[in-house]
Amino acid sequence: MKSPIYDYLHHVLENVRPDASGRVAGYIDVLAKADPSRLAVALATVDGHLYSAGDDTVEFSIQSISKAFVYALAIEDNGLEYVLSKVGVEPSGDAFNHLSLQKGSHRPMNPMINAGAIATHSLVGGPSATAEERAERVLDVLSRLAGRRLQVDEAVYEAELRDANRNMGLGYMLKAAGILSRDVDPQEVVKGYIRQCSIKVNVRDLALMAATLGNGGVNPTTGEEIIPHDSVRQVLSVMTTCGMYDSAGDWVSRVGIPAKSGVSGAIIGALPGQIGLAVFSPRLDDKGNSVRGVSMCEKLSTDMGLHMMDIS
Ligand code: GLU
Repeated sequence: MKSPIYDYLHHVLENVRPDASGRVAGYIDVLAKADPSRLAVALATVDGHLYSAGDDTVEFSIQSISKAFVYALAIEDNGLEYVLSKVGVEPSGDAFNHLSLQKGSHRPMNPMINAGAIATHSLVGGPSATAEERAERVLDVLSRLAGRRLQVDEAVYEAELRDANRNMGLGYMLKAAGILSRDVDPQEVVKGYIRQCSIKVNVRDLALMAATLGNGGVNPTTGEEIIPHDSVRQVLSVMTTCGMYDSAGDWVSRVGIPAKSGVSGAIIGALPGQIGLAVFSPRLDDKGNSVRGVSMCEKLSTDMGLHMMDIS
């Protein structure tokens, strides 16, 4: 049965549909060929209601949105202090694939840039985990967050791997700096990170994943506790300051919801105690964020009073 919320979500889509600005990510063929007209939105409440509209069953690779959840896994498997000794929490102001480490500590600036995400991936499963165990743990947890078994998009994985020089460079840099532990092979870790980015999702999956963060780590539809409560706070904090590539300040002031963006054109937002949202539209702005996705999030935030600095 249709409810007023579906009409509202269609209105959100139609409001941004005419905007054809921005460009689809072009660094690999599979992404460059994405249909730029795709448009979808989904909302999941912390009491387990899921609403969506538009191309809401179309799948795309999760890309950098995975970084937020894998950071939570690294914390669970190693403890926060250890993870902080390997990866910082400062916004970088540099591109997501920038090749540099913090002066002094030699840590990547934060877990949302590739250097930090590769280091974070290496920590999944703790010190004795194999590459296969890390990959399986990531896929298993993302699937439980989405409430269904997810798959890797092998075409995206192969294409990313063929063009992985920069990420491989980051892997070796992390190894040389002692951020990757001695028995970890940088190539295996980067392959695992790329596989993590290639997991296929739709906006409904992402809204549930975000709502799990908004619900203190408990999936609101299955009732399973997936992310420990303390890690959720850390993840949402880092999403707030570092989740939107190099436009965190603009995002926090305009939208005001902890968020993470990915290069396939999706964005998630999670507001503690309230809601998880996800949008998808492949054309990106010059910072790498979905143009129509940002507009939809701004509208949702304004219309529903979601900005974290608003008095509720
Ligand atoms: N797989 C991409 C990379 O590491 C992720 C890009 C992104 O979504 O920011 O280059």
